[in-house]
Amino acid sequence: MSSDTVDMATPDEGKVESEATTPQDNALAQLSRAAEEIEVSEYVIERLSHPHKVHEVTVPMKHDDGSHSMYTGYRVQHNAVRGPYKGGIRYHPEVSREESIGLAMWMTWKCAVMDLPFGGAKGGVAVDPKTLSETERERLTRRFTEEIRDVIGPTKDIPAPDMGTNPQTMAWVMDAYSMQEGETIPGVVTGKPPVVGGSEGREGAPGRSVAIITREALDYYETPLESATIAVQGYGSVGANAARLLDDWGATVVAVSDVNGAAYDDTGLDPHEIPSHDEVPEAVTRDAETVITNDDLLGLDVDVLIPAAISNVLTAETVEYVQADLIVEGANGPTSAPADELLEARGIPVIPDILANAGGVTVSYYEWLQDINRRSWSLDRVTRELESDMLEAWEAVREAHETHGVTWRIAAYAVALKRLEAAHEARGLWP
Ligand code: GLU
Repeated sequence: MSSDTVDMATPDEGKVESEATTPQDNALAQLSRAAEEIEVSEYVIERLSHPHKVHEVTVPMKHDDGSHSMYTGYRVQHNAVRGPYKGGIRYHPEVSREESIGLAMWMTWKCAVMDLPFGGAKGGVAVDPKTLSETERERLTRRFTEEIRDVIGPTKDIPAPDMGTNPQTMAWVMDAYSMQEGETIPGVVTGKPPVVGGSEGREGAPGRSVAIITREALDYYETPLESATIAVQGYGSVGANAARLLDDWGATVVAVSDVNGAAYDDTGLDPHEIPSHDEVPEAVTRDAETVITNDDLLGLDVDVLIPAAISNVLTAETVEYVQADLIVEGANGPTSAPADELLEARGIPVIPDILANAGGVTVSYYEWLQDINRRSWSLDRVTRELESDMLEAWEAVREAHETHGVTWRIAAYAVALKRLEAAHEARGLWP
């Protein structure tokens, strides 16, 4: 136990005990909890509870019908002590300063858990991308890139896809940035299509890491993968890729869902037959024989529950009916701080997002290396390196879990915070 825990001076101080309302509340509550259980310098914890920089921009856009809208965009740069800022760009109506700060903090921990030479960032535009045409999305992306151009760059801050954005969005970011710089700079952004410097295996990487970590966690708890039942909430890139791999490896996926509800079969679904959100949006229940609600899915008596949709779905209220033996977080921040404590009290282990879905940023790192070296890797090499990096991170977190006798989330924080503390100490404080 650290004797010098810190009161964090943040606008949301005091909300920790109540239901976390924003990812910032949740991230700060987690950091504060970790600081109670792990010995980390008071200064470092305080430094990490504040982002380095918060950029807020107005993004004007002309619609196809000639009308105009003003959107608000953000780029939060949380910490760069271990390397350039790194993290996704999200297009979603709920994008806000608070959400971007929380998500940027999680990126700092995620990169440190994976031992990548990156810090943490996140950003986005408060817009519902479903209401925009393809050409409107392109104009919005180019203008947003221009608004944040001064603060991003291959050695400064490297964006990537997140909710509501995809490889095409990243190609536009790369093009808009490169056009202004006067040269093609693929390393400014990751998650691009391979034809313009993207990495093979990047799109499927977050789902692959969720599957790898689920496999390792089941093994740790001595549940054979071949007899494990799995429910996946959210069928975007993360949920669908995780479900399909786990099915390939012999597990039984009994439920998968999107916003309309869940397809359910207690004898097992074929996740390859169900279109992911990227293939056909919101079509999970289209051909399903049995449809249940998302809340029903959270309450299924399965071996593993994978929340892979949005943040804050496991709350003090919804965890009441969780019956799964193990939770593996596919989304960023799906479990609120009070829910986390309730799950701990009930002995339901939660493998945290900052480890489980870290395959995305890990393959982003491979992509960045490929861009800088102007040499691409085969899918085979990406898959091999990801497997080995995920196992290394799993081992580090497992060791912390056993050594400190803490939850998996605190164990992942222990690994990340120790690395961040060492970097802060080595660099010192300027001036
Ligand atoms: N948006 C992804 C995440 O939340 C990936 C970020 C990246 O590749 O930089 O981890």
